Amino acid sequence: MSDKKTIRTCVGCNKKEEKNKLIRIIQQNGELLIDHKNLLGSRGANLHKSLDCLNWAIKTKAFHKALKFSGALNTSQVLNEFSSEVP
Ligand SMILES: [Zn+2]
Repeated sequence: MSDKKTIRTCVGCNKKEEKNKLIRIIQQNGELLIDHKNLLGSRGANLHKSLDCLNWAIKTKAFHKALKFSGALNTSQVLNEFSSEVP
């Protein structure tokens, strides 16, 4: 059936959610980016489009775990996009 729902867990609040309600975050060279079109094939972290969830994920280093990345992550671009789009 075509309406089968894929469930993913938000790395911020750790709640389960339908995949299409979450955005995909990836990292490139230590910079966090929103994978808007699911085009980038690298490892991704699922997140609500919510500044709270983003801040939680940063605070708890959830992105490091989800993306298997141990260096410093530059979050400014994602923060900018979230801040400008969230009312
Ligand atoms: Zn969340």
